[in-house]
Amino acid sequence: MPWSESLSKKIKTKVNLAGYTSFKIGGRAEYFFEPKNLKELQQVLVSAKQAGLRVFILGAGSNILVSQAGLSGLVIRLSSKDFRKCSCLGSCIVAGSGLKLNALISFSKKKNLSGLEFLVGIPGTLGGCLMGNAGAWGKSIGELVKQVGVLDYNGKLKLLTSKQLKFAYRKSNLNKYIIIWAKLKTHAAQKKVIVVKISQYLLRRKQSQGNNLPNAGCIFKNPGQGSAGRLIDICGLKGKAEGGAVISKLHANFILNTGNAKSKDVLSLMDLMRKRVKERFKINLEPEIKIWE
Ligand SMILES: Cc1cc2nc3c(=O)[nH]c(=O)nc-3n(C[C@H](O)[C@H](O)[C@H](O)COP(=O)(O)OP(=O)(O)OC[C@H]3O[C@@H](n4cnc5c(N)ncnc54)[C@H](O)[C@@H]3O)c2cc1C
Repeated sequence: MPWSESLSKKIKTKVNLAGYTSFKIGGRAEYFFEPKNLKELQQVLVSAKQAGLRVFILGAGSNILVSQAGLSGLVIRLSSKDFRKCSCLGSCIVAGSGLKLNALISFSKKKNLSGLEFLVGIPGTLGGCLMGNAGAWGKSIGELVKQVGVLDYNGKLKLLTSKQLKFAYRKSNLNKYIIIWAKLKTHAAQKKVIVVKISQYLLRRKQSQGNNLPNAGCIFKNPGQGSAGRLIDICGLKGKAEGGAVISKLHANFILNTGNAKSKDVLSLMDLMRKRVKERFKINLEPEIKIWE
């Protein structure tokens, strides 16, 4: 056991990750830990480093595919209330990385602060959203970030200012860190204006996605030459199934778990989508979801 006695009482073993992902797919994590606070997180990182364990940071699990074979190493989930705090600083919001985006948007609505509405309906945490520079309708979270508090994998705290941060389409330079909190730029607005924006964005999302089976959002990033979903659709792949996984008939860049999908089913559909798009358009599709194996 690589942990001190106090930590080993809190770290779970062989935890099935399927229930922690929006895909509802996945095997078991060798070690699984939800630290109570920053100190516990720092302690566990130091121990994991000494033991040479791989560390995975889990947000809401809405952008990952976990291997059915399970994961060796430590999965850390920043779900405790210390990582979900939220406050106002002038017209900015400072929020913990474990906070779900919808809770963050509710908070900003309550405080009459606007700017985050376009993110409504994205089922992730602030940490996952910042890591992948999540966005919708032509905007992404990176545009709003003023500062980010991170830990490196030795447990050392660091403050990154907007000058040190790099955000591009569905990526950031935060991938060597554990995101702890972020300061986001918003602006004062009337509550009724914020409420209208939220309902308009939710309606657009419902019309374009509307999937009620477990999924992980867009599987591939949009290539420069257009929408990945449209390219996959033109290849005639909507409705194509493999085991318990099927390509959505509504949005061809979504794979749905019809009940008993395994990670290999999803990977096999991904291979097919990539292969057909490459053959027909000479375009390489790059996964948007993170594959944990
Ligand atoms: C129905 C549906 C609709 C979606 N719509 C959109 C959309 O419109 N736009 C969009 O961009 N995405 C969308 N997504 C994808 C997903 O919700 C986002 O990418 C989201 O930001 C992922 O956050 P998460 O907390 O679930 O991250 P996870 O899936 O848990 O993790 C994703 C990555 O972020 C890392 N990570 C998570 N938290 C931290 C942290 N605190 N520190 C360091 N690394 C961390 C993980 O290690 C992993 O590499 C959608 C997904 C679904 C299921």
